[in-house]
Amino acid sequence: MMPLPETFDDTVRLDLHMHSTASDGALSPTELMQLCHARGLTHVALTDHDTIAGVAEAATEAERLGLRLLCASELSAQWRGVTIHVVALLPDGAQGALIEGLDAQARAREARSEEIARRLEAIGLDEALARAREQAGSDRPLGRPDFARALVAAGVVPDMASAFKKHLGAGKRGDVKAHWPWLSEIVGWIRDAGGVAVLAHPLRYGMTRRKRGLLLDDFVEAGGEAAELVSGFQNPDTTRDLSRQLQERGMFGSLGSDFHAPGGAVAPGSMSDTPRTTLLPVWRHPRLAGFAQ
Ligand code: AMP
Ligand code: MN
Ligand code: MN
Ligand code: MN
Repeated sequence: MMPLPETFDDTVRLDLHMHSTASDGALSPTELMQLCHARGLTHVALTDHDTIAGVAEAATEAERLGLRLLCASELSAQWRGVTIHVVALLPDGAQGALIEGLDAQARAREARSEEIARRLEAIGLDEALARAREQAGSDRPLGRPDFARALVAAGVVPDMASAFKKHLGAGKRGDVKAHWPWLSEIVGWIRDAGGVAVLAHPLRYGMTRRKRGLLLDDFVEAGGEAAELVSGFQNPDTTRDLSRQLQERGMFGSLGSDFHAPGGAVAPGSMSDTPRTTLLPVWRHPRLAGFAQ
């Protein structure tokens, strides 16, 4: 297999942020690997929310296809009252404090689901937990998209977008974040596992540039080393500006589509081009040397 380039040039073969049925994605880990391969990707990471449960299955298929797969997860954290996502790139899998950390995240998701259900029942969606479970179609931990689908199925809202806009999005009744650990704690688990902590989609928290700078400062202070320079499709000027913010802090840059389901805005490997930058790509991080070959 061709090794990955030293810079962000020619990175269309890589996607370090995707979901499967182990969290809120539509494709099984096997199907996802097959789609990645069909789309010409060579290096990928499966980043299900707060779990690595899909990685073993994905690894079997990735090996069969000759695709390089990195064990990973997208962990939920809170920082100053905002839910922040951190992609853990885990060349050695789950180790040390992260093992108990992932267990704690699963329990947090369960308690949070019960709280979300109570809150949605208060607006008239009876048996909310059972309805969300039915939408999930398996016993995996539930997320807000399952509740959004339950609201649509019950006819409370016309579509997913309005479910989030009215009931589940940031600041709405069903946006329960109190269960997530602090950002610094999550980053600590990742470092303890020998992984690289990547701040996910820094442009999607609705923050001013200044606030994003404070987030990046705290993230780096906690041991975070990278951030997603490109997440799906974004404005090139904003990307250049983000690149400067990362460079000022000596961070690495990552890339990903945040793919969830076929037929959506993005497919595996589909994302904006990276503007010319001297930022180091995260696959050049010394701890990921084995992956980039
Ligand atoms: P959770 O991890 O349970 O907080 O759920 C967050 C997930 O909900 C995100 O990863 C997205 O997949 C999905 N999501 C967030 N906002 C929206 C939205 N406005 N419309 C559709 N899906 C969304
Ligand atoms: Mn998601
Ligand atoms: Mn996310
Ligand atoms: Mn994601």
